[in-house]
Amino acid sequence: MRVFKFGGASVKNAEAIKNVEKILNEFGGEEVLVVVSAMGKTTNALEALALAYFQNSGDKYDKYKEVKNFHDQIIKDLLDGKTVRGYDDIENLFIELECEIEGAPQLGFDQIYDQIVSYGEIFSSRILSTYLNEAGVKNRWMDAQNFISTDNTYREGKVNWTRTAHLIGSKLRPIVKKQMVVTQGFIGKNQDNFTVTLGREGSDYSAAIFAYGLDANNVTIWKDVAGVMNADPKKFPDAVKIDTITYPKAIEMAYYGATVIHPKTIQPLQSKHIPLYVKSFVDPGAIGTVVGVEAEPQNPLPTLISKENQILLSFSTKDFSFIAEENLSALFRVFALYKIRINVMQSSAISFSVCVDHEPSKIEGLKEEVMQEYTLNATEKVSLLTLINYEKEKVTQMLGGKQILLEQKTQNTLQLVVA
Ligand code: ASP
Ligand code: MG
Repeated sequence: MRVFKFGGASVKNAEAIKNVEKILNEFGGEEVLVVVSAMGKTTNALEALALAYFQNSGDKYDKYKEVKNFHDQIIKDLLDGKTVRGYDDIENLFIELECEIEGAPQLGFDQIYDQIVSYGEIFSSRILSTYLNEAGVKNRWMDAQNFISTDNTYREGKVNWTRTAHLIGSKLRPIVKKQMVVTQGFIGKNQDNFTVTLGREGSDYSAAIFAYGLDANNVTIWKDVAGVMNADPKKFPDAVKIDTITYPKAIEMAYYGATVIHPKTIQPLQSKHIPLYVKSFVDPGAIGTVVGVEAEPQNPLPTLISKENQILLSFSTKDFSFIAEENLSALFRVFALYKIRINVMQSSAISFSVCVDHEPSKIEGLKEEVMQEYTLNATEKVSLLTLINYEKEKVTQMLGGKQILLEQKTQNTLQLVVA
């Protein structure tokens, strides 16, 4: 049994969808679960719609129309003059979304966000499933919300693993054994029957959750790149593809900013030894990257990951006392309160520094919380560089005059906060 994940770029227009059909055609008789994201930039457009609805803004119907027209055009291009009944259901789904944004909002923003933004995946999976059936790749559409059970953390749902694995294993597995199934990434449902999303770019994670529950043999993430690269090819033209990676290294890379795989994807796969293939949908025959090999190669490629839009925060006490356990525990409570994820931290006798994602509203909240007792020094617009298996000589050259604000080293990994 295989799990395939197709991201937004792989279904961004009719031509791309036809390419997905070509890939899936090869796997006709096999047990395959297809997990698909929203088409192209739909999630961003739906985010804007959710906000417009929440603020009761006059342009909410324009925003709705924009999403509808985009999908209508894709359907029109796929139909190419034919009439196919299955697409009528999609019209109904649009009416549902339109009803969703009628009247004044009754729920909190995050909950509204999930109810609206999740339509992107519903539309894309419906369109893909219909098109595939029409083209002869017989499949069944299933709603991922019936299988992925979460708590009530809207926009960042936490998976109830026991319930989810049970639902997937007992209800979905028998269906995939009979027929190819097309479902959605990114979405689940809580016990109150509301949609909960798993965090932006969460479709990779969904693929891993399904693979875990299905006890799949492998997962393939189909991308517009050749595989996992050892640096961002846009910034480093001599970047090369990594052929094999261990799970821990893949986790480290994803966590520190390699956007090719969502960071939460690896652990569920690792726990069941399910290999992950990252392959190009443009060149499906090529060998991509295999994640989940036992050991690193003899001479592993030096790898550079850069996480942008970071802020460096340094706390020191106002009463000149040393940074002690009490301070750290108080500060961590504030980080947890505002859901601020620490990417790197360092403490000394008189100060404690962290590098975190720069999300202004969270940082403002944190500042207010600590200003009574701490002096806070904030440096914006910094980047976090993570170098794995680094070559010392190359580091200076690569930095090209950038200033190092914080440095942390382990045996194979060097992390630098630079401005
Ligand atoms: N459509 C969602 C997003 O754009 C999930 C995903 O693409 O993985 O964030
Ligand atoms: Mg995406």
